[in-house]
Amino acid sequence: MLFDAHTHLNFEKYTDEERRTLAEEIEASQLGYIIDVADCAASARLALQDSEDYAWCRAAVGIHPDHASVYTDADIDEIRRLAAHPRAVAIGEIGLDYYYGTDDREQQQELFRKQIRLANELRMPIMIHSRDAHQLTMDILKEEGAFSEERKSWFPGRPAPGTMSAGGSGHDLRIPGEYTAGADRLVPDARVQMHCYSGSPEQAEEYVRLGATISLGGPVTFKNGKKAAEVARRIPIEMLLSETDAPYMAPEPLRGRPNKPQYVEYVVRRMAMIKGISYEETARILTENGRRFFSITD
Ligand SMILES: [Zn+2]
Repeated sequence: MLFDAHTHLNFEKYTDEERRTLAEEIEASQLGYIIDVADCAASARLALQDSEDYAWCRAAVGIHPDHASVYTDADIDEIRRLAAHPRAVAIGEIGLDYYYGTDDREQQQELFRKQIRLANELRMPIMIHSRDAHQLTMDILKEEGAFSEERKSWFPGRPAPGTMSAGGSGHDLRIPGEYTAGADRLVPDARVQMHCYSGSPEQAEEYVRLGATISLGGPVTFKNGKKAAEVARRIPIEMLLSETDAPYMAPEPLRGRPNKPQYVEYVVRRMAMIKGISYEETARILTENGRRFFSITD
């Protein structure tokens, strides 16, 4: 079973027909779950509709930094209201995008802070989009209490590094002797997903120490994706999620085409190869990680 921890089934350019066809393909694939991610209040409503229509679908509701210059506080209130839906499992995607956004940087930061506060108010997982603003993203998350002890106390812990798999976990974070510890050994989890993580391996390790989870997609499969591959190698599998960001970021060998959630298989195969663990075991662990992260019990 596979888990796509960040995808856009509610993508605005899909026709109803295309969305239905895609849902049928997902249904027939190895996917067990997808998180359908919103980028504004209107897309959050669509994502929640998908989550009601499909048993394998949950929704993340939030406002993407691209909307920083057009959102209103009424949109934030609507996100708060939609987040109460039982199929809404995270606030996202939220964060900073300094690749496209140049004039609205102050507004992006303000929107980001408001939504971290909302996630804290609602005690929900946070899904982060961060592009060309790596240090500022981390600073704001810290300042707004995304890694506070209080926040970590709201969520059950996650298995310690090296406890979910016999092979291939990262080395740098492992405490000596921890490797053979039982799978019941838990460490704090702040439930912060670094979606399509594109920062340095060192910063990924810092995030994991803070209680965040690193989510990897298509770039880990790219021939020029050495940095993402190094992140996959160094970060313990217990702290990783698999995703597509479909319809963007298609993995090799489909790069350049429209991406689909079921192509998460290529991401998981690549992660398995990097970790030196079988594809089946990698898929099982990443699915378990996703279910735990988003508190999916059925
Ligand atoms: Zn996305």
